[in-house]
Amino acid sequence: MLNNNQTQKPYGHAVVIGCSISGLLAARVLADQFESVTIIERGKEPTAPTVRKQVPQGYHAHLLLKSGELILQDLFPDLVTDMKAEGSVTVDSSADLSWFHHGYWKIKYHSHLRVLTQSRPFLEWHIHRKVSDLDNVIFRYETSATQFITTSDKTKIIGVKLHNCYTNKASENLDSDLLIDASGFGTQTPKLLQEMGYTAPKETSLHIGLNYTSYVYECTTSDHDWKSLIIYPRAPQQNRGGCLLTIENNRYLLTLVSYLDDEKPRNYTEFLDFAKSLPHPEIYNFIKNLTPISALSSYYIPKTVRRHYEKLDHFPDGLVVMGDANCRFDPIFGQGMSVAAKEAVDLGRMLAARAKRQSSPNVNGLSKPFHQQVARIISTPWLLAITEAYRYPQIEGKRPFWMKFLHTYTAWIFALSSTDKQVHESFMNVLHLLKAPVVLFKPSILWKVFLYKTKNLR
Ligand SMILES: Cc1cc2nc3c(=O)[nH]c(=O)nc-3n(C[C@H](O)[C@H](O)[C@H](O)COP(=O)(O)OP(=O)(O)OC[C@H]3O[C@@H](n4cnc5c(N)ncnc54)[C@H](O)[C@@H]3O)c2cc1C
Repeated sequence: MLNNNQTQKPYGHAVVIGCSISGLLAARVLADQFESVTIIERGKEPTAPTVRKQVPQGYHAHLLLKSGELILQDLFPDLVTDMKAEGSVTVDSSADLSWFHHGYWKIKYHSHLRVLTQSRPFLEWHIHRKVSDLDNVIFRYETSATQFITTSDKTKIIGVKLHNCYTNKASENLDSDLLIDASGFGTQTPKLLQEMGYTAPKETSLHIGLNYTSYVYECTTSDHDWKSLIIYPRAPQQNRGGCLLTIENNRYLLTLVSYLDDEKPRNYTEFLDFAKSLPHPEIYNFIKNLTPISALSSYYIPKTVRRHYEKLDHFPDGLVVMGDANCRFDPIFGQGMSVAAKEAVDLGRMLAARAKRQSSPNVNGLSKPFHQQVARIISTPWLLAITEAYRYPQIEGKRPFWMKFLHTYTAWIFALSSTDKQVHESFMNVLHLLKAPVVLFKPSILWKVFLYKTKNLR
């Protein structure tokens, strides 16, 4: 049982829509603050670490950034130990990762940055098990949240209408002191807000036309010097890449990707051809004699979308929006789950701070500062992803004036991280959302970039 057994909780009942990564992590922090937490999930109760129909991205490679892993470890002290014992693979993010990035192999050395690789369903299953251990969290499966229930003046959400997906009938109304929308990219909140007379949040979006295609293989050989192998395209000339992860149960998961609405493989022959067309043949050479043990899975992400809840002047009390419902990132950078973890931690922190301040704690006025905090959390990963996307002239959007400089500077950083440990380490810390990008501009790195540039422009 997790340690959330404070005798008296400051708040009453929280309802979380969605039992995926964001919803589970929200429930975990809310369980410390609320007498009871109900998670509403339209899918069935998971009974094994397998892909859920409602979360089809689970077929594809999911990287858990180090920042996300550290938060998970904090929220669930035994989680990482359990996952390692049951099959997660520990990967030294330099020595065990062969990464061909923008035309260079990253430098290899024994680094301090160790991450875990596993399938997405395996990770979600383990988090789910831990949240199930919390005695004040209730799960309602095969139940969909369809409408908000509001006060008569519509200034506050006080509950949610439920629909039984099994009988296909409306079920009951569920009261809430705080409602968390963790229902993913397909969230109904913008539409429901408009029906209540509010404005939907403005969106920033980039059409990236990203295709994912994956197969699973059995590990039949250890005759390679990596545990993960990544081929990443050099934009704008190249738009295809691949990510091969060693995952639990002695398997490899290979996801091939392409930007710009490129054709995607429709069968294994096309998948092999696609692998052959990557910027480096390493993945193709490795899989050409293997036989997949799964069917083909595909996923299309037309655009990345950021919903600016933080900018809304009017928003009802009693509701917050987090996870993919708030922002869908370019998944190639592996940010979604770790950002959701950061958001959950800050939600818990803000609730705890209010409870200390207020004699009779309530959530009025929480939404705005929370959404502002979410926007702060999102800003760095969003910037990292759009910087790469904007290398493609085909991707529309107004480039800030400094984008050209960033493209040039980061290209030098990418090149240097193939030979220089310090640059590589700083770059990885930024990618894993452990440090702010400003570390790439510290004097010692600026100096190395200057020397590199001088040498290479001669
Ligand atoms: C192809 C792909 C690859 C990705 N790779 C990575 C990666 O490498 N690393 C990473 O960190 N992230 C990755 N992501 C993102 C990651 O999957 C999400 O950020 C993560 O799942 C958190 O999303 P979420 O919990 O907010 O929403 P989701 O995972 O979409 O889950 C939403 C949940 O809400 C439920 N739901 C929806 N509506 C209702 C309703 N009305 N009532 C009840 N239940 C409802 C759904 O059934 C579902 O269970 C990837 C995404 C995609 C698409």
